[in-house]
Amino acid sequence: MKYDAQTMEKLVALAKRRGFMYAGSEIYGGLAGAWDYGPLGVMLKNNITQTWWKQFVTDREDMYGVDAAILMNPRAWVASGHVAGFSDPLVEDLKTQKRYRADHLLEEAGVVVTGMSISDMDTAIKEKGIKSPEGNPLGEVRQFNMMLKTSVGAIEDSSSVIYLRPETAGGMFVNFKNIVDTMAPKMPFGLAQIGKAFRNEIAPRDFIFRVRELEQMEVEYFVHPSDWERAFEEWRLQMLKYMDAIGLPRDMVHELEVAAEDRAHYSKRTIDFEFEFPFGCKELYGLAYRTDFDLQAHAGESKQSLTYFDEATKERFVPHVIEPSLGVGRTMLAVLASAYHEEEMDGEARVVLKLAKDIAPYRACVSPLLKNKPELVAKSREVYTALKKQFGNIAFDDNGNIGKRYRRQDEIGTPFCIVIDFDTLGENPANLDTVTVRNRDTGAQERIKISELANYIA
Ligand code: ATP
Repeated sequence: MKYDAQTMEKLVALAKRRGFMYAGSEIYGGLAGAWDYGPLGVMLKNNITQTWWKQFVTDREDMYGVDAAILMNPRAWVASGHVAGFSDPLVEDLKTQKRYRADHLLEEAGVVVTGMSISDMDTAIKEKGIKSPEGNPLGEVRQFNMMLKTSVGAIEDSSSVIYLRPETAGGMFVNFKNIVDTMAPKMPFGLAQIGKAFRNEIAPRDFIFRVRELEQMEVEYFVHPSDWERAFEEWRLQMLKYMDAIGLPRDMVHELEVAAEDRAHYSKRTIDFEFEFPFGCKELYGLAYRTDFDLQAHAGESKQSLTYFDEATKERFVPHVIEPSLGVGRTMLAVLASAYHEEEMDGEARVVLKLAKDIAPYRACVSPLLKNKPELVAKSREVYTALKKQFGNIAFDDNGNIGKRYRRQDEIGTPFCIVIDFDTLGENPANLDTVTVRNRDTGAQERIKISELANYIA
């Protein structure tokens, strides 16, 4: 469906009402840039990450999983260039001292910021007379390092400062040597990791789109330098395949070839996969050719050899890297936004999440037609228990009338509603041991044999 002006509000409200996402530490008034996954959110997130892990790791022969510590030796972030250069342009409202992204204010004023330096942005803000969103004058544009700092140990001084990793990638580069030494991987091969990363975003916003505590699904794929273009294309297609698998409509995804002056310091080619979010077309994922930048930098800083010896060609070299980088929260938001539909069914308005059936929190919901008939309830529990044993994510709902249950399940995207009625128990002998299965998207109902249910919903 096309979004309307209230779509974001409605999504945030639905996410809370139905237990997908809550504002972080909400009873204390929340914390900007932090969100908590509720029970349904966890189920959806697990399906998103497990689908990714299966496609990007388990189904392949050339991928190795790692789960590195979030806290790393700070020298790793010196080597990677993050201490010196992981920053965003910041500008301060001179009256309220509130801080804003200078590039975002410029974009909102219709200025193309591609390739602009900090001083270009400063000049443009002055020349155009751009004010803060509160209408106040702005200060100088400065670089603001986005790494979150903390300190380790009992004494707080400069030597105890460490960073919360700003991307999961670092944990994989520092383990390159371990993997080569212990797993004897054949080239090309990749490392994969799902985990938290932290960025001190100047202006967290748009629900879970821009947060300070985020989760990433990343691959560092190591190739011979002559092989990077083939591998880049392979991972581009893998990313599209993944988006299909989780049900993101292709026509809402746009590939943007990032201009040289806008690429991260380590990248020689980057494609941003942008998605049509309710607040505009924005980056969902990135695919970057990181060259040998990281391995060279870590080799230099750690004084360790980070090379690969190819037994087949007898060549020793520093591999180059292709990196598909996917945000879990942005995936969740894209999935929710594109699945959200308001429509009429049987003369009644309904809200429905048309989620791909493999990622919906519940695959099916089982109900007795009437709650106060013990024989219907007993049979429903039997069907429910058997399906739950096989699929895990099966709901049981006997609250209210059937129509209300359908609406509730539509709202959380359950693809199938299974109802046990008197026919199931043999009132009409021809229908003994059959149930009705209602399809979420069409509302159509079919009678299915209990013995065929598992196959049907799979
Ligand atoms: P943006 O330009 O939107 O700040 P980025 O280019 O800095 O994003 P990358 O460094 O490429 O993002 O990070 C890889 C992926 O991690 C992004 O494509 C996105 O899915 C996710 N991501 C990055 N920053 C955030 C954030 N603050 N909140 C949520 N997800 C994020």
